[in-house]
Amino acid sequence: MSWLNKIRDGLKKTSEGIGNFFKRKTKLDIQSLDELEEIMIQSDISPKIVADIIDQISKKGFLDSSVYDAQKFIANYIAKILIPVTKPLPIVPQNDTKVIMLCGVNGGGKTTTASKIANKIINQNNKVVLAACDTFRAAAVDQLKELGDNLGVLVFKGQENQDPASVAYQAFISAKKEKIDFLIIDTAGRIHNNDNLMKELEKFVKVVKKIDNNAPHEIILVLDGTNGQNAIIQAEQFNKFTNLTGFIITKLDGSSKGGFVVTIAEKFNKPIYAIGVGEKLDDLDTFLPEDFANSLVG
Ligand code: GDP
Repeated sequence: MSWLNKIRDGLKKTSEGIGNFFKRKTKLDIQSLDELEEIMIQSDISPKIVADIIDQISKKGFLDSSVYDAQKFIANYIAKILIPVTKPLPIVPQNDTKVIMLCGVNGGGKTTTASKIANKIINQNNKVVLAACDTFRAAAVDQLKELGDNLGVLVFKGQENQDPASVAYQAFISAKKEKIDFLIIDTAGRIHNNDNLMKELEKFVKVVKKIDNNAPHEIILVLDGTNGQNAIIQAEQFNKFTNLTGFIITKLDGSSKGGFVVTIAEKFNKPIYAIGVGEKLDDLDTFLPEDFANSLVG
């Protein structure tokens, strides 16, 4: 099944998604406009965007024409927000080791995404190493080690409870020495409002900068696509403490909460580099904004 069909199926899981609303209506009136507003907000599209869409639908005279016009208008409106932030994964090598740091809360798909990115880098015939920096969770380190072993990629791991930033530091020194194109740092993800975690992320940045002032070249927040509104809160929190360079949204294959992607795009104006559409290694796809907008609405 294509990623778009998987997403379409996911979005239909809500009893009343935007698409289902349009299927029931032949004409929009003031009452149904209120209903549409409510449904869009429930889909985690920000109130600001929803208010503007509703306002424009009234002004543009869509109330008297077929619902198809309003549906098309909303899809175009959403696509216009998503297109400018849709960027390819930043895996073009530079002269020196490029550091990609992945952050996000536990269970969001960081480790899986690290291996998916590594797989893409290998497929482009470039070199990559991984650093397992969740030194407080042995299982997380083992998981990355196993994924790395399957890919034939070296995984740096520290001792249990070793300072995570020092693992990243050593990995970066070695990667540079070995002329490796990319170092992917898989960080810890204990709850997002945990001060220690945020301090830990700041330390990663400080420590790798000692080696290369431009590093980390990317700080990507991996967001669970089934989290809806919560994902927006996480993005705000992480962005406060680290200068995020972009997002990867996982699990969109099973999510009925796609509306938050629109909110993230509008709020942060930072790249959406890829989406996760399954658990397998090659289930990391380019985000297609127009198709996504159409799936969300129709
Ligand atoms: P981490 O704690 O953030 O490192 O999360 P993991 O990488 O361990 O992923 C948590 C779970 O989500 C695992 O069971 C993964 O297989 C699953 N997962 C990760 N990405 C995706 C995705 O894009 N789609 C689906 N369906 N599952 C995913």
